[in-house]
Amino acid sequence: MQSMSGAHCLICQSPVEPGALSFWGEVICGDCEAEIMELAVDQPEYAEVIKTFRLLWQNQFIALQNHHTMESDNY
Ligand SMILES: [Zn+2]
Repeated sequence: MQSMSGAHCLICQSPVEPGALSFWGEVICGDCEAEIMELAVDQPEYAEVIKTFRLLWQNQFIALQNHHTMESDNY
């Protein structure tokens, strides 16, 4: 786990300013955001990015479900 003080871009791992585009605590720098926007769907890079996001979304979804289940058990 990374510390909250040093957020790094999910894609290029470079340090990201606070307030950058973020997804559930994962951040993406402006350069990568622009790159994603410019990528064509049939480019290999696009598939890689989508794969990364899918994994992230999947993990987050599972985490949310687990969290929800645990909370429900407490009531
Ligand atoms: Zn980046």
